Amino acid sequence: MATSHLLSIFILALISLSPIGQAKRNTPSEQKQAPFEFIKTLQGCHKGNKTKEIHNLKNYLHQFGYLQYPNRTHANYNDDFDETLESAVKTYQRNYHINPTGTLDAITVSTMTTTRCGVADIINGDNTMQKSGTKKHESGSSGHIHTVSHYSFFPGNLRWPPSRTHLTFGFSPNTPAGAVAPVVRAFQRWDAATHFTFSQAPSGRSADMVIGFHRRNHGDGAPFDGPGGTLAHAFAPTNGRFHYDADERWSIGPVPNAFDLETVALHEIGHLLGLGHSSVEAAIMYPRLSSGRTKGLNADDIQGIRALYNV
Ligand code: ZN
Ligand code: ZN
Repeated sequence: MATSHLLSIFILALISLSPIGQAKRNTPSEQKQAPFEFIKTLQGCHKGNKTKEIHNLKNYLHQFGYLQYPNRTHANYNDDFDETLESAVKTYQRNYHINPTGTLDAITVSTMTTTRCGVADIINGDNTMQKSGTKKHESGSSGHIHTVSHYSFFPGNLRWPPSRTHLTFGFSPNTPAGAVAPVVRAFQRWDAATHFTFSQAPSGRSADMVIGFHRRNHGDGAPFDGPGGTLAHAFAPTNGRFHYDADERWSIGPVPNAFDLETVALHEIGHLLGLGHSSVEAAIMYPRLSSGRTKGLNADDIQGIRALYNV
């Protein structure tokens, strides 16, 4: 590869990151393990095992809605790989098109450790990723299942009142200046593809939707987890809050080891409008996103909005 090309990528990365990247650069000895990395130590585990870190796997599956013991007692969140945990792992595997063995095989571990949206896949026991229209075909030796399923809504089909087709957005004062343009572009993409129109509220005016950057515990009951793990989250209509995890390294466009602001905005705006997670990997509402990647709106996302608003 030409040196000049590498250099231009480097310069582009510097330009992209200088106003935005908020994560402190730690020396290797100071670097903490990313939030989901512990799952790698559990590869091969299955029902009947007792391994330290299984209580953390239970917390992980609880966080994303897969595990609901009647009581969140210490006894349930122990290190026993029990039947309830096996069932939760199988549900997770089905949602991500993995052969539902209930064992933490390599593909399950690599899927679970991918950075993702902080919004749960199953809300109040409602597994929206496996709703009507799901067809499964065993595909033989690959261990994958081809699942035809699609967009989802929040329980109760929460949405903006049908008369509210124009919505305004604004930014919390802590928003890095470089993050505004990618979020505006994301709203423009949703604007062009749906019956909604969006505009930025004049500063000082209240907006229907507010974007902010927060770290760790920030007062909404859904703490962020530092670099890696969850990247952002947003609330169902008509709450309007959309938070980026300020501890991530953010970028404009695809930059290695950074997350694209616009791609994440497209996903979280989908939540603000009432979409839940989709099991279609190409859909913007698919929960996982790796660093260095960009995505756009997919037919599945547009169909979801049309179905929710009956337009
Ligand atoms: Zn999400
Ligand atoms: Zn938040």
